[in-house]
Amino acid sequence: MSKSIEELKGQIKNCNKCKLCNSRNNIVLGDGDINTKVMFIGEGPGADEDKEGLPFVGKAGKLMDFSFEGLGIDRKKLYITNIVKCRPPQNRDPEKDEIEACIGYVQEQIKIINPKIIVLLGKIALQNILGAEYKITSSRGKWIEKDGILYMPTWHPAALLRDENKKIQFWQDIELVKEKAEELNILDV
Ligand code: URA
Ligand code: SF4
Repeated sequence: MSKSIEELKGQIKNCNKCKLCNSRNNIVLGDGDINTKVMFIGEGPGADEDKEGLPFVGKAGKLMDFSFEGLGIDRKKLYITNIVKCRPPQNRDPEKDEIEACIGYVQEQIKIINPKIIVLLGKIALQNILGAEYKITSSRGKWIEKDGILYMPTWHPAALLRDENKKIQFWQDIELVKEKAEELNILDV
């Protein structure tokens, strides 16, 4: 049997499996409805997330929230997490050893939540969940079905801050997620 989220919280509480434990203020395990069928996976906490202990509460998160609001998606009905649970210093990409140390937690979260849809936010999420052979530029906006889960790769919300075009594509991808969730009757928005 898989663990519960509470068990996972207990297990991760004092995690020092990688060097990110030295600079973090808070571990950001995830947030949302664990009974959801729609999960979002980002890269790793930024400064605001590290301060609050919650995912996607900073600038990039606000931009993502804006698209949820625009499309009539209730964020509280999703579950949102990241590949690494502690903030990489200066918001650099998480390094290979850090991802290897942390990836088991997101894999446990997927097992516990058992989602039907997983939105992969950016290259780090895409390549560490589905494999390094996937490229974000060619994969985004297209459903990938694997082991009974539908994956939607899209841009990382932070990339939208710099590129209007990506903002439009992100909205389109999230709209596809909403449509699919409605079709499957798994997100009563
Ligand atoms: N970027 C991420 O990848 N995750 C967060 O939680 C915030 C910003
Ligand atoms: Fe542990 Fe993950 Fe934090 Fe590294 S990033 S210390 S593996 S919780």
